This record gives sequence, structure tokens and C-alpha cells, in this order.
Amino acid sequence: MAENPPAASLEAKSPFELRVHLGDGVPEQTVREALASGDLGFLHSFTTGSAVDGPGVRVVAWTTGCMWRCRYCHNPDTWRLTNGTPVSVTRAAEELGKYRHGLKVMGGGFTLSGGEPLMQHRFAAKLLAAAKGMGIHTTIETNGFYADRLSDAELETIDLVMLGIKTWDPARHTALTGMDNGPTLAFARRLAALRRPLWIRFVLVPGLTDDMDDLAKTAEFAAGLGNVERVEVLPFHQMGSFKWERLGLDYTLRDVAAATEEAVERACAVLRSAGLQAV
Ligand code: SF4
Repeated sequence: MAENPPAASLEAKSPFELRVHLGDGVPEQTVREALASGDLGFLHSFTTGSAVDGPGVRVVAWTTGCMWRCRYCHNPDTWRLTNGTPVSVTRAAEELGKYRHGLKVMGGGFTLSGGEPLMQHRFAAKLLAAAKGMGIHTTIETNGFYADRLSDAELETIDLVMLGIKTWDPARHTALTGMDNGPTLAFARRLAALRRPLWIRFVLVPGLTDDMDDLAKTAEFAAGLGNVERVEVLPFHQMGSFKWERLGLDYTLRDVAAATEEAVERACAVLRSAGLQAV
């Protein structure tokens, strides 16, 4: 697979295209100003026609930059902000505007994902507000770590939050992601208090996140929130492993098998027994 597509167009077939160094020429001062104002953002790509990143058919903008280092991350090329293409929020909104009618007809919408979109929280807030202003259903897929950077008014422009809960036990979470899960759980509680719709995403990794007692604690927490519409169990796979190798990163899950359908079903059963809708 080529490192960057020839024209490095914003649109990609999937986020599994490896993209690096596309924003390296942007001066550091411009990067700082972009992060502060949100007028300019860094995007890995846009993809269209996704049926797995929120309700209906989605246009997805994949941001670059992430403060976590999940051992199973499928897209480590999105960790570094300047691996992305610099795009003004105006251009990103125009790109999205091309799809507004089709998205409405198909009952879909726009999803901002990453990387971690809230690494660029000003850009995220502006782009989501622009999408909402065009009457497009908006979703953000986030680990929630920087969610306190969004005001309650900004949360109103997000129709659905898809929050990744990686594992319950704090020590295990830190070993898995490099970071604390406290802010993620605090964000879930805040969304519950604001009665904002929430989907939870959980990646099932054999030998790493498949402790069903640990998952039962996540399930109990999620069921107690009252605003969780569904939990998605995503089976670990190896589709992103080539990126780790190409980026020269130490990939520790090379020998881990993909999660089986039976294992996913076991996890769903734990979630359902807490009263959650799990798929
Ligand atoms: S939070 Fe997402 S993008 Fe960041 S390291 Fe984890 S899986 Fe990768």
C-alpha cells in the first residue's frame, strides 16, 4: 500500500490508508494558532458511505492527533497531528455540504472521528456546529479525555456521542492506553446529567480486554447512566498492524488472534444481562 495517495486528496477509500507527514510544512506558530482558534484543522481524510460510524449512512472526517497510545490502535498514523492535511474549517464544511441532501434522504449524517477529535477541540466544535447548522445529524467518536474542553452549549450541537470505554480497571486501562480512564467516565456521567444520547464502543481484544468480570463493571456503570442507547462490541482485528510496522512502532499484539464471533456474543450477553442493548 502506498504511503500517501498520489494527490493526497482529502477523500480516502477507508481510514486504513496510511497517511504521514502531510502537514509537516505548516509552521509551528500556525499549528498553535490553528489549535487555539479552530479555523484550521488537520485531517487524515474524509470517507463517505460508512454504515458503522453512527446511525444510517455517514460521512466521516478522520482527524489526526491523539493523546492515547492504545496497544491495539488500528490507525497509529493518526497519532501525530501533522501527519494530517491542514484544512480550513470553511473548506471542511463545504466538503460536507456536498452531501447534506443525500445524508438527509438516507437518514444518515456526519461523524467526526480520529485519531482523537478533541485534540483539536476548537476545530471540532466549529465543524460540528457548521454541520448542525446545515441540518445534518452530528456524531462525535471520542475517548472523552478532553471533553471538558467542550461547553454544554457546544455539546448541544452534537446529536450523538460515541464514547470509547476501553476497560474498567484503572491500572489495566493505563497499561492498555497509557492514560487514566477517569475523564472518560466523568464525561459519560456529564452526558447522562445533560440527558444527551450516548453510544458506548468497546473493543474486544483476546487476552487483553476479554475479562468478563471487568466488562460486567463497565456494563453496570453504563446501565446506571440512563442515557446509553446501545453498546457496540468491536472485535479486534489485524487490519492496522501494517501501519505499526511501517511507522517503526513496537507492535505487541502481532500474535493476537482476531476476536471470534462467539467471544463477541459472550461479551454482548454480559452487557445485555445488565439491561443494555448490545450489538
Ligand atoms: S484513542 Fe483511538 S486513536 Fe487514540 S490510540 Fe486509542 S484507538 Fe488509537
